[in-house]
Amino acid sequence: MSSFDPARIAIPCAHFIDGRRVVDKGELATVRPSDGATYAELPIADAGVLDDAVGSARKAFLRSEWARQAPRERARIMRRWADLIEADVDYLASLEALGSTRPIDQARAWDVPYTAEGIRFFAEFADKHGGEVAATAHDHLGMQIAEPLGVIGAIAPWNFPLSMTCWKVAPALAAGNTVVLKPSEMTPFTAVRLAELAIEAGMPAGVFNVIQGSGPITGDALCRHPEIAKVTFTGSTATGRAIMGACAETGPKPVTLELGGKSPQLVFADIPDIDRTAQTLAAAITGNAGQVCVAGSRLLIQKPLLESMIERLAASFGTLTPGLTWQEGSRFSPIISSVQLERIESIVARAREAGAELLTGGERFESGLGGCFYRPTILHVNNRHNPAVDEEIFGPVLTIQTFEDEEEALALAEHEVYGLASGIHTADLGRALRAVRKLSAGTVWVNRYGRSNDYILPTGGYKRSGIGRDLGRAAFEANLHHKSVLIDLNP
Ligand code: NDP
Repeated sequence: MSSFDPARIAIPCAHFIDGRRVVDKGELATVRPSDGATYAELPIADAGVLDDAVGSARKAFLRSEWARQAPRERARIMRRWADLIEADVDYLASLEALGSTRPIDQARAWDVPYTAEGIRFFAEFADKHGGEVAATAHDHLGMQIAEPLGVIGAIAPWNFPLSMTCWKVAPALAAGNTVVLKPSEMTPFTAVRLAELAIEAGMPAGVFNVIQGSGPITGDALCRHPEIAKVTFTGSTATGRAIMGACAETGPKPVTLELGGKSPQLVFADIPDIDRTAQTLAAAITGNAGQVCVAGSRLLIQKPLLESMIERLAASFGTLTPGLTWQEGSRFSPIISSVQLERIESIVARAREAGAELLTGGERFESGLGGCFYRPTILHVNNRHNPAVDEEIFGPVLTIQTFEDEEEALALAEHEVYGLASGIHTADLGRALRAVRKLSAGTVWVNRYGRSNDYILPTGGYKRSGIGRDLGRAAFEANLHHKSVLIDLNP
C-alpha cells in the first residue's frame, strides 16, 4: 500500500546549513497542491542566514577534504548517499507527494529512484576526467588542469523537486564544488532531507546547504552573493533572464539555465500504429498535468489523421480524474498553485478569443478535493500565431495544427522563442533524419517522446530555452574550469 496519512508526515521545516537543520521563524504558508491546505510555515533566509550558508559552503570548499581528497573517495560518498536515498524511499516519496504535484505511486516508482541513480551517474565522473598536456615546444611542458569552481548557487523549480535538485546539485558536487541550493518556496522540504542524508553518507558539513525563501528575494540575493562562483537554474525564461542580469551585475558569473519550452510533435500519416502514437502524445501533455519543461504541447498532424487522432486523444484524456497525491492509484497531478491555475485559464481564454476552437476540456476540474486541477484540454488552432501556440502554458493543454506536407510541418514546428525539445513520428527514416537536421531544438525524439532513464544525453535549449546543458558529461564539465600551466624545462 502506498497511500499515507498526510498528518503523520514529519515536515523538515528548516534551512540546512553547515551539516544541520537551522530552524527559523515561519513566514511563508506552504500549501498542498491537491487539497489546498496549508501544512507548514516556511522560514525566509535573511541576509545573515544567506551569509552563513554561503560562508559554510566556502569554508567547506577551502578547508574540508571534499575538493582535495582523491576523487574516488568523493564518488564513494555520493554512491553511499544514493543508497541512503533509496533506503529512505517511504519517507522521501511521501514528503515529495505531500507538497508537490507528484502522485505517491510515481514518486516511489520514479522520482526517488531516478534521483538516487542520477547521483550515482554523476559520481562516476568524479575520477574519470583530467586535464591535458598541450602541444608546446620541447623545451616547455604545457598542461591544463581541471579544477572545481567554488561555491555553486543552485535554484530548483517546483515541478519535479527531487529530480531537478539532483540535476542541479549532483554534477556540481561530483566535480568537487560545494553548493547552496534554494528550492522553490512551493516545494521546499525534500531538499532538506536530501542534505541530511548526504551528511549521513559521509559528506563533510557545509558541502551541501539548503536555504529557504522566495525566488525574487532569497533566490536573487543568492545569485548576487559575491562568494557565489556560478549559478545553475531551471525555470521560466523570464526568471532566467533576471538571474543572468543579477549574475552579470555582480560578476560576471557563469550560468547554466534550463528554461521554458513550447515543444512540437510532428505526426505524419505513415505512422504504423496510430493507437501507440496517440498514447505517446497523450502522456507527453498530461504527465505531471503538463507541468514539464519538455511537455509536448504543440501537436502538428498531417491532415488525414486529424479526426481519428482527436478521437483517441479525447478518449484518453477522459480517463484521467483528480486524486489526492497521497492516495495510491492517483495518476493525474494537480496544478501547483492557484496562481498557475489562473495563468492556464487566462491563456486558454485568450486563445479562444483569438480563434482557437475548444475540442475538449477548457475548464477547471471541480474535484471537490479543494486543490487545483485543470481538465486535459485540446485546442484546434488554424492560424500560426495564437496565445496557446506562442506561450508556454505549463498545464495539460494541447494545441493541434494541421499540415499538408513535410515542408509545412517543419515551418510550423519552428517557434520564434523556444527550442527545448521536439518529437517526430513517421515510418520514413529519411524524413525523420531530415527533420532532426532542421528542427531548432536541444533534443529531438524520433518515434517516442520523452527521455529514457539514461542520464548520458545532455538536455537543454536552443534559442531562449536555455544556456548550457543539464545531464550528460556536459553538465559535469560545466562545473569545472581549467588552469593552464607552462613549465620551462631548461631554466
Ligand atoms: P520561476 O521561473 O519564476 O521559478 C522557478 C524557480 O526560480 C523557483 O525556485 C523560484 O523560487 C525561483 N525564482 C523566481 N524568481 C527568481 C529570481 N528573481 N531570482 C532567483 N530565483 C528566482 O517560475 P514560476 O514558478 O513563477 O512559474 C512560471 C512559469 O515558469 C511556469 O508557468 C512555467 O512556464 C515556467 N517554469 C518552467 C520550469 C521548467 O522546468 N523549465 C519550471 C517551473 C516553471 P520560488 O518558487 O520560491 O519563487
